[in-house]
Amino acid sequence: MVTLASGSIAHRGLADVIARIEAACKAANRSAQDVTLIAVSKTFEPEEIVPVIEAGQRVFGENRVQEAKSKFPHLCERFSDIELHLIGPLQTNKVKEAVALFDAIHTVDRPKLAAELAKEMEKQGRRPKLLVQVNTGAEPQKAGVLPQDADAFLKSCREEWGLEIAGLMCIPPVEEEPALHFALLDKIAKRNGLAELSMGMSGDFETAIAFGATYVRVGSAIFGARAYPATPG
Ligand SMILES: *Cc1c(COP(=O)(O)O)cnc(C)c1O
Repeated sequence: MVTLASGSIAHRGLADVIARIEAACKAANRSAQDVTLIAVSKTFEPEEIVPVIEAGQRVFGENRVQEAKSKFPHLCERFSDIELHLIGPLQTNKVKEAVALFDAIHTVDRPKLAAELAKEMEKQGRRPKLLVQVNTGAEPQKAGVLPQDADAFLKSCREEWGLEIAGLMCIPPVEEEPALHFALLDKIAKRNGLAELSMGMSGDFETAIAFGATYVRVGSAIFGARAYPATPG
């Protein structure tokens, strides 16, 4: 059966990624406890996700609210300790659903979204962990606050909307050396007193760990190649 075959690929992929994270932490003189693996399950079916949960993985990332909503409530019923992270862009009209569903949102990047999140978190009495996405490459098509605007945006998150921001997230431009972007994100986080750094994907998570990542977001190295490309934020 197809689902079993892909499940076992995912299971091997998970073990391999965990071993590589441990080696990268060791090389960087960091504790593996300080790096959380987010298994990015976008485009994969629940049948492909279950073997990864059964292998012990509990933290998952999705980039679309609708897709996560169609897949995860069932999985969360079956496995009560799943932690779900939103790693894709969030439209203000989906904030209500996002606050209800996700344990962390990595893509806070504009005043209107921050205001809406504050309102909805208050209303629902839920406090997902929040990270601000920084567009470190200043790419016009990419979400995220510009590096030069990050300090001011973080300040207004705290002072205007009373939001506690845990850290920063970035997606480096594909054609550039990711290390430069990871270093920049780390610098912005440090000067703002932020502990969490969400950076590093299948192709560069070891580099991200060397530069201080506390969350790595890994999809294809665990689940295999996606059948259709899901656009990263
Ligand atoms: C899809 C996605 C990932 C995972 O990408 P892989 O290259 O498959 O590891 C990480 N972060 C974001 C924001 C994504 O959209």
